[in-house]
Amino acid sequence: MAIKLSNFRSKQPPDLQITFKLKVRNLHRSHIGSFLFILLFILLLIPPDSLKAKTLYPEYGNWFFNQKKNVHPKKPPAEPNKELVSLRKRELSDRIQYYAYNHMGGPAQLYMDFLRQDNISSTLKLPASITLPPLKEILVTEIKQKSRFSGWSFKFSYTYVPGNPQSKIKELQYYHLPFANTDSYFVSQGFNGRFSHYTDYSRYAVDIAMPEGTIIHSVSDGIVMSIAEDFDRGGATQKLLSQANVLRILHDDGSMAIYAHLLPDSVQVRIGQAVKVGQIIARSGNTGFSTGPHLHFAIEKNVGMQLKSIPFKFLVQGKWRTPETGLLLRH
Ligand SMILES: [Zn+2]
Repeated sequence: MAIKLSNFRSKQPPDLQITFKLKVRNLHRSHIGSFLFILLFILLLIPPDSLKAKTLYPEYGNWFFNQKKNVHPKKPPAEPNKELVSLRKRELSDRIQYYAYNHMGGPAQLYMDFLRQDNISSTLKLPASITLPPLKEILVTEIKQKSRFSGWSFKFSYTYVPGNPQSKIKELQYYHLPFANTDSYFVSQGFNGRFSHYTDYSRYAVDIAMPEGTIIHSVSDGIVMSIAEDFDRGGATQKLLSQANVLRILHDDGSMAIYAHLLPDSVQVRIGQAVKVGQIIARSGNTGFSTGPHLHFAIEKNVGMQLKSIPFKFLVQGKWRTPETGLLLRH
């Protein structure tokens, strides 16, 4: 990965080089000395590996952050799943502003830190994390030269996680089954599943074996946060970690449901849309890292720049049941 650098005279659009969930922004600026010197721009190349954040999402990888496009829309794009939080730079005569756009239908937490700073001041004291409102662009920080008599430069990184870490989320959640009243399916991998449910992120996830194309219903009321539905490949290969179609729905208490491995182009709702429990939201599939058609379902919370799955129970034939491996789920 080549890291682009920009300087304050550039008229080019902001360079967003997006790796996984870590993005790096460089800027170099040298000042004109009183008589003798003209501007000197120094470009540095950063070893790409040092900039990559490890994905937190082992089962289906970096689907949040698997960005290819460098777009900086003022409004949500037609397919907002392509980029969930983007930074935009605005250069003024005496300072540089950075704006963050959250393309999700729910809050996100943004973390920024300087990798290097020389003779600058920033209105946001870094390192810092801030909560971004949904579907809005806000000014994050302004960076200025401190002393007029010497050059200035800086480099910072940023990363983000869906959800608001301040949300008061119940430790145990209760939900309706994510499929039609007439259907019944087995849990193929429950909590703490040895195949792929053993990290903080997936410990309380559940896999429900069901044929591709099964109609998926929302387990709760909520707001659609993000949609990925363009992937069309699936299989048990690590290469597909980042290629699961996923729908994320924010619940009233700030927890988030994820419905993963969905059929391509099957999502029936839009970003920011309110959904009701039982509403049809998508069709199941077999996209991404998956050994066969199933729905991966989990309830997550942002615990501070990190997503954690939390335990829940499904309403199964009138009783609240922990979705253990092998349990038959039916209404
Ligand atoms: Zn799973």
